[in-house]
Amino acid sequence: MDLMNEYQRFLTRGFKPFNPLELAKETEKIVTRQGDEGLERKYTGFYSVPVYKGIATGYAAGCCLRCIYCWSNWSGDFPEKFGKFYSPKQAAQNLFKAAEEGIIYSDYWRRVIRKVKKLRLSGCEPTLGKEHLLSVLEHVGKTKYPFYLETNGILLGSDRDYVRRLSQFSSFIYVRVSFKAATPEGFTQRTGAIGEFYELPFKALKYLLNEGIYARAAAMTDKRVMSKEVTKYKAAKIDELDTNLNRRLGVWKLNPKAPLGPYRALWW
Ligand code: SF4
Repeated sequence: MDLMNEYQRFLTRGFKPFNPLELAKETEKIVTRQGDEGLERKYTGFYSVPVYKGIATGYAAGCCLRCIYCWSNWSGDFPEKFGKFYSPKQAAQNLFKAAEEGIIYSDYWRRVIRKVKKLRLSGCEPTLGKEHLLSVLEHVGKTKYPFYLETNGILLGSDRDYVRRLSQFSSFIYVRVSFKAATPEGFTQRTGAIGEFYELPFKALKYLLNEGIYARAAAMTDKRVMSKEVTKYKAAKIDELDTNLNRRLGVWKLNPKAPLGPYRALWW
């Protein structure tokens, strides 16, 4: 692929919807590579932050969606330009180190949260690079840290084997699946991906729960992005999967003062 001219960057007016699984493959070619200690993956940083009452976080580079409200760093749009490669062992060790150091960028939060006891992979899309993630989890499993995985659910919803293999770590992992839309049109409008793929995050959640993995859905309800009907439809859809799932629906809102997709939503 001609990176300069063909790789999907942020959405612009009149964009052509893309296949997120193909974009995932293209992005994996950029953000992963084979190393001496297994599949290496690009990250833009490792440090502890106050969310989840303090969590050491590895920020993965590269994503397979192009959400108009994306708050992740520019490695989502330009993965070849951002981040450094880490082996699974190095990524895990960096997470352990970040947890031991605690929150170091803010004296206030360091005083409030004195000890960091959890690990997380977040940032862009941490499930890109299947063997890397599974290997990181093998290292984490040798410790007592709980591990939080934040994902858009595209790869997990399309690869049953991925979820099955994640289940070997179910004693210490929690997976948060981010739902973008409950309709094909809404999915394309918000993520740039072809509408027919909108169900993959739903499937991901279903597979995760079926495998006995502790998982939740996170959904945006900001009115500027999602109408009330769509929110209701989303809830109904979740009910179809599991009658208890509404209790698992974490809801978050955009800061009302924040501009929508400040850099990426050029067509909004
Ligand atoms: S899935 Fe997440 S990281 Fe990827 S574009 Fe959407 S908001 Fe950004």
